Formats: sequence, C-alpha cells, structure tokens
Amino acid sequence: MSQRFSSNLLRSLRNDIPINDLIRRRLDLPSKEREGLLRFLCPHCNEFHTATNPRTNLARCFRCSLSFNPIEMVMAVKDCGFVDAVKLLVPLLEARGHSRGGEQTAPGKSGQR
Ligand SMILES: [Zn+2]
Repeated sequence: MSQRFSSNLLRSLRNDIPINDLIRRRLDLPSKEREGLLRFLCPHCNEFHTATNPRTNLARCFRCSLSFNPIEMVMAVKDCGFVDAVKLLVPLLEARGHSRGGEQTAPGKSGQR
C-alpha cells in the first residue's frame, strides 16, 4: 500500500477537525447532547452509548469499546476506505484554514454543481 498523504496532513485531519462538528454538521449522524457530552449514534451498534472527547478529538462507543478519530469516523459512517475518508476531510481542513470565522455556511442540500 502506498502512502499518498503526508503524516503532517493526516495528523491535522485527526486533530484540527473538531470531532463534534464533523459528527453534527458533516456526517449528519444522529446525535444529542447530554451533560455537556455529545452522544452520537454509533455506526457499528446503532446505540447512543457513546461520547466524544474534544480534548483528544476522539469519539468513543462504550458498547463496542471503539474509539474513532475523524478519519475513522468518516470511514465508519460513510462505509468508505481510508483514501476516500481523507479526501472528504481535506476540504474541511482547508475551509478552516481560510475561514475568518463568523462565516456560517448553511448545511444545505448539496446536489448543485
Ligand atoms: Zn457501538
């Protein structure tokens, strides 16, 4: 398997894309907030016995004993491979880098263009 992405890039994807934003805005994964923790529907067991940890930027399912970083989360939810997950995440990272804050993009329907 050839490595097509730099380790720097992959580290940024894992650390700089907030896992909560990813779950709520990008993946449309059912989620709810309770006691300050974001609970998401685990893509493996379909339970809400989960939480995210913004500090480590990991999402964890207590039932499956699985942790997901942003890349793994995309792979699990979209049922895609590593490369596709990275391709989906890179624009999010770039958007964060270029955004000045205050700009809210509606999570509108895609399909235009
Ligand atoms: Zn699970």
